Amino acid sequence: MRKKIVAGNWKMNNDMAETEMFLVQLKKQVIPEEVTLMIAPAFTNLNHAFQSVREHPVTVVAQNMHQSDKGAFTGEVSAAMLKSVGVETVILGHSERRSIFKEDNELLAEKVNTALVNNMTVIFCIGEELSQRETDDHFNVIAEQLEEGLFHLSEAQWNNIIIAYEPVWAIGTGETASPEQAQEMHAFIRKTIADAYSNSTAKNVSILYGGSVKPDNAKELFGQEDVDGGLVGGASLKVDSFMEIANSLQ
Ligand code: 13P
Repeated sequence: MRKKIVAGNWKMNNDMAETEMFLVQLKKQVIPEEVTLMIAPAFTNLNHAFQSVREHPVTVVAQNMHQSDKGAFTGEVSAAMLKSVGVETVILGHSERRSIFKEDNELLAEKVNTALVNNMTVIFCIGEELSQRETDDHFNVIAEQLEEGLFHLSEAQWNNIIIAYEPVWAIGTGETASPEQAQEMHAFIRKTIADAYSNSTAKNVSILYGGSVKPDNAKELFGQEDVDGGLVGGASLKVDSFMEIANSLQ
């Protein structure tokens, strides 16, 4: 059975004091039982966040990691380092990593392998740019990101994969995919996985929507059959809006 997930991707926001303020408030909230709640703080605050929410149903997630085990990679963080501070889930392939930091499908496939070898769970982000949607290329782009990033995996490895569909044109723009556009793409993603693997693998993978998810549009997006939750940026930085979004998933 696939999980319902609301994950907050904080990106490069929230220093230590702000992280602590968020956590103090978050721990006072009643978290809906059927929702897996995740937060992805900056690397510098992962250890503190993990320790702080130990007794609470909140999963602490990293926003990125390096594909190598260790070595001369100045400025990078390994899977083992993340695991040593309690982090077992990592976001890979976010569109900002793809566009600003030039991470391509081949590199991402390597990162996915490293994460899975280390028994981590991966939130794998895919999404088309506006120009690709305008030229009706969006299904091809998504199929290619899936094939090149993930379709080398064994069927069993899919137990540790979560997909986040984040159309680039909807990220941080205030423009959201309509519930119909989201459902259409999520159904396409599920079918593409079913064709490459099996119906049961496709049925069991959680597919999150990301891109300007807010309290006032979350319920309708999450109401779609193939939308299993959200990967939330801006609206995840305040406990109130984050919890409103999480409560929309029930
Ligand atoms: P926004 O919710 O700010 O549009 O960001 C979405 C996102 O990129 C989450 O990973």
